[in-house]
Amino acid sequence: MSLLDIFFPRDCPFCENRLQSDVCLCEGELPYSDDIYAPLYYVGVVAEAIKRYKFVGKFSYAKTFARLMCEGFDRDDFDFVIAVPSYRNKTEHALILGEAVAKELNLSCKSGVLVKVKNTEKQHNLNANERATNLEAAFAVRHSNRVIGKRILLVDDVMTTGATLAECKKVLLRAGVAEIRFLTIATTENLCGN
Ligand SMILES: [Zn+2]
Repeated sequence: MSLLDIFFPRDCPFCENRLQSDVCLCEGELPYSDDIYAPLYYVGVVAEAIKRYKFVGKFSYAKTFARLMCEGFDRDDFDFVIAVPSYRNKTEHALILGEAVAKELNLSCKSGVLVKVKNTEKQHNLNANERATNLEAAFAVRHSNRVIGKRILLVDDVMTTGATLAECKKVLLRAGVAEIRFLTIATTENLCGN
C-alpha cells in the first residue's frame, strides 16, 4: 500500500461507486450524528464501510473518512494528531486514519508517543466494566517531553463504549498533555443521548 492509495481514493466508502469528485452524492443520505466526537452513526453503509476499511484493508477510504471527521474543525485548536495504537503495531488502520486526519488539518501525526503495552484483543466479549478493567495499564506514553503542555487530537475508527479513548486520555493527561479531544469516524447508536 502506498500513500497515493490513501490520498487519491478511487471508490466511495459508502456506495462503493467509482468517485468522480471528492464528494459522493450518496453522502447526503448518510446517518449523521450530533455527537461532536464522530460525524456518523455506526449503522448500515457506514458500519459496512468501516468493516471493509479495517478488515479488508480498503485504506483508500481514509481520505473520505478524514474529510467528514474534520468538517468544522479548526487546526489552530491542536498541536498534533495521535492515533490510538494497536498492540505491537499489529494493525495500522487507526494510524492510517490518523495520518489522513492530520493531512486534512495540515498538522502532523505523531506515532510512537502513545503505545499499547498490553494485549486487550478479547475486549469485544466483555461488558463495559470489564472492558475498563481490562484496559488498565494497557497504554503508555513514550518521549513524554514531546507531549507536555500540548493539545492533542486523538483519533480512532469507532467510538463504542469510549473505554479505550478514556484510558488513552488518562495516560496522556498523566504525562502532562494540556488538552485532548477525541475524534472517530462513527459512534455506536446506543451511545445516543448519553
Ligand atoms: Zn457514494
